[in-house]
Amino acid sequence: MASTTKTAVTNVRIGGMLVGYYLICQRKAWLSMHGLWMEQESESVAVGRIIDHNSYARNKKGMMLTAEAPDGSCLVGQIDWANLREGVLHEVKKGRSCEDAHVWQLRFYLWLLKRCGVVRVNGSAMRGQIDYPKLRRTEPVTLMPEHESRLAEIVTALRTLAGQEKPPPRIERRAFCRRCAFEELCYG
Ligand code: SF4
Repeated sequence: MASTTKTAVTNVRIGGMLVGYYLICQRKAWLSMHGLWMEQESESVAVGRIIDHNSYARNKKGMMLTAEAPDGSCLVGQIDWANLREGVLHEVKKGRSCEDAHVWQLRFYLWLLKRCGVVRVNGSAMRGQIDYPKLRRTEPVTLMPEHESRLAEIVTALRTLAGQEKPPPRIERRAFCRRCAFEELCYG
């Protein structure tokens, strides 16, 4: 187990979804960092992907990002789509039940861009927008200096979490857990 833990700590690649998981449930983040990605089995997530695909197929221009965190961690990001002319990164979501996690996921992508030195032609920073096509709503997201500090803290906390031999206890939010792909693992 010790060598597995060491590998997890040194090789951990931190993405926006993990940041969201960390804020929702640290157990979910730990399970994901230890190789369990089960979202494709979740009907709820699958529906979200269908909305994502159908709603923005014509405009869609996905983007992959990599950057290094202040503590040396490898950061990766997969942006749903970007309007580079307008300088807006878009993240498409089904519902607002995890809105705070969605906001931090998108802030994480804006942070990656900033750490890569990417700005608009006029020198201004990129901004973000969460799209909720089913709700016909959008939510603007910006990156402030205090958000960058918080993201750096979360990344370091995720590295520490990855090194733990056992997952944290489950959260006691049964209604929320029913929609999680790890439900059977946590409650079975
Ligand atoms: S089922 Fe609940 S406790 Fe288990 S990983 Fe999902 S959110 Fe966390």
